[in-house]
Amino acid sequence: MNRGLVLGIFMAAGGLSLAVSAYQAPPASDAKVVEVEKIKDNLFMLKGGGGNTAVFVGASGVVVVDTKNPGWGQPLLDKIKELTSKPVTTIINTHTHGDHVSGNVDFPATVDIVTQENTKANMEKMATPTGIPPNDAGNIFKNNGGKGLPKRTFKDTLTLGQGPDRVDLFYFGRGHTNGDAFVVFPAVRVMHAGDIFARKAPPLLDANNGGSGVAIGDTLAKAAAEIKGVDSVITGHSTVMTWADLEEYARFNKDFLSWVREEMKAGKSVDAAAAEYKLPEKYAGYTNNPDRVKLNVGVIYDELKR
Ligand SMILES: [Zn+2]
Repeated sequence: MNRGLVLGIFMAAGGLSLAVSAYQAPPASDAKVVEVEKIKDNLFMLKGGGGNTAVFVGASGVVVVDTKNPGWGQPLLDKIKELTSKPVTTIINTHTHGDHVSGNVDFPATVDIVTQENTKANMEKMATPTGIPPNDAGNIFKNNGGKGLPKRTFKDTLTLGQGPDRVDLFYFGRGHTNGDAFVVFPAVRVMHAGDIFARKAPPLLDANNGGSGVAIGDTLAKAAAEIKGVDSVITGHSTVMTWADLEEYARFNKDFLSWVREEMKAGKSVDAAAAEYKLPEKYAGYTNNPDRVKLNVGVIYDELKR
């Protein structure tokens, strides 16, 4: 298989070392390229093929957080092999979506798979997320005889490993789904937030999988207040961000909810309200998404009407 040619030319001339660029062939359209961003000596963010994956190398094995789209498990395993000779012992899925869990089926059956308990129930169904066109590929776990489903769950918190290998899992309530896990690596002060903080933009509120636009701001604020000792946050689909960015994202979602409540009180339809939405200027660096805003106004109206 042609994975692209990387040619590094190292030249030494008169005591002067010169590393001359690299040529990378453009990937074939079906090539699955996993990009590595090193965050710490033993923690990497692997990008491409769906949600961001965290790879945490411990003394005796590797913890993988999220496993990307269907067909991306093997490319992910191949890339992990380039980073460490240690075996993958644990997968943690931050939530149920296909772009975060589907690669599970390509990992050895011995690998432990851990999720929040609602995410396990969601993965058994793999309901189409709110606002996403249904695909007819079916439930990837059913198609694989149940392989890749969680073996262990937690409700509010769970600690895996100890000392420098410790991983802390937290659940603070509904948001993107009803099973969003915050995954903390205390020794390196980094957290994977999954898609409850996917990017600086309006969130996907997946009501079909228990997500809530009324709760998401509070859930994010609870995480920001109660989790200690983290400097860097791996987002679901964007760059690594700071704790202040997470706190700001909690405020962004609370502000959005307040605005939707006002629109509802003023008797606006979902369409009329959504058409009026403007990103508050104080949220610099945020991207608007009018289609998503309309969906989110609808989800919140439905919740408020109950
Ligand atoms: Zn998601």
